[in-house]
Parts: sequence; structure tokens; C-alpha cells
Amino acid sequence: MCMNSGLLIGFDYDAKRAIVARANCDQWTCKECSARMASRWILRAGMGTRALLGQGDTVDFVTITSHEKLKTFADTERVWRSAWSTLYAALKRKKKALQFFTVPEKHKDGRMHVHSLWNANVSQTWLKNNARKRGLGYQAKVIHVTDASRVASYVGKYVGKDLGADVPKGFRRVRTSQNWIDIPAPNNGLMGLTWEYVTSNGALEIIYLECHAKSIALIDYETGEIWDDIDLGTTVSSQVSKIYKEGRGLS
Ligand SMILES: [Zn+2]
Repeated sequence: MCMNSGLLIGFDYDAKRAIVARANCDQWTCKECSARMASRWILRAGMGTRALLGQGDTVDFVTITSHEKLKTFADTERVWRSAWSTLYAALKRKKKALQFFTVPEKHKDGRMHVHSLWNANVSQTWLKNNARKRGLGYQAKVIHVTDASRVASYVGKYVGKDLGADVPKGFRRVRTSQNWIDIPAPNNGLMGLTWEYVTSNGALEIIYLECHAKSIALIDYETGEIWDDIDLGTTVSSQVSKIYKEGRGLS
């Protein structure tokens, strides 16, 4: 459970109840969130591979290296970004319905390697030549994937692995083509709720007031029991405190 973020409160006004759940910060630096996000991505890698194999596509796990003259992660990442747009175009010419699932790796020497699952069906020689032409390393590897259950061990090594400090801001840990299959949203009755995101004690107290006034029961999502209080670690403004006290007949 992520401890960095606030609460998500989902109101069902008709049923006079609200579900309280811990929000996630979704930061790769957060131990809880990175573990959760990594396992989701690994699941999605396997799902996509299974779907492609199922429709008779060839799936490869490829490794593309960076140019040997580039020494830092930031430099290799910058060159990769421009190289990818033309490499992508070349791959699209090979496979119109191209699908990919790409994970970067920070290699021992600090430079970026890129691993991708894709259905481009290009040979190792083609990839070596085409990567090199675009300023990437001359070493590339193509492994045929015939068993989708192997994919977790391929990408699991890299998804969520620490990339160190010189990673550009907003750097995405996994990139997929738009058509790479997604995990369906759970159909668990939470979808129709009106959600509010609460990050401070003051905002939480206003929720308490509202629920009290409208006889709405607050339910803990984890336990299914009546929600117990939580300290979100912020100072309550005197104004909120006043409203709160008035609402509870304390002033
Ligand atoms: Zn978190």
C-alpha cells in the first residue's frame, strides 16, 4: 500500500455510502508503487505476446544497443529518441500492423540498451544494419518468442529496475504501441462512483462533515468496515477547523 499519497473517496449518493481507498503516487521511486506498476507491465507484456502469437504473428524479443561513442545514459537516451522515429518508420514498412512493447535498460557501463517485444519479423542482420544506420550500436539481438509465459522473465529483469539519477525528467519506463493490448478495467461496481481525491486533513474533515450531514456511511475499501480516521499529516487551517467544529456542534 502506497504511503505517499492521499485518499480516494468514491461517493454513491443513492446508496448513502462512500468507499475510502488509499491513492497511489505512481512514482517509480516509491517501493510499493514500483512493485505494483512493474507487475502490471509484466502482465501486459505477456498478454500482448499471447494475443500476437494467437493471431499467427511472429514475436521477437530484441535488444538494441547504443552507439559505443556515447558514454552517459542521458546521451544514449537522447540519440535513441531521434533514432527511434526513423527506425519505427522502417519497421512499419516491414509490418503494417506493427506492435511493440519497449523497455529501456541501464547497462552496467551506464549506457542505455533497449529491449523490445515486437511483431516486426525482421532478422538480426536487418536490425543490426538498420539500427547502425540511425546512430545506434552495431550490436543487436533477436530472440524468437514461441511461449508467451517466457516473456515475464525477459521483461521482468528490466521493468522497474533502478535507472539511477541521470534519467531525464518524465522518462517513461515502458513504451508500447497504441494497439498493444491493455488490461481491462475491473468491472467491480466502483466505476459508477463519484471520486474525490483528498490529500489533507482539512479536506478530509470537510468530507466527514458532508457525510455526517447527509448520513453517508464511509466504508474502508480494504476491510469493508466503517472507515476509521486517518492523519494525512497536514495542518488543518483555522477556517476549516471552525467549519468542522460548527458542523459537529462543537463551537
Ligand atoms: Zn506510491
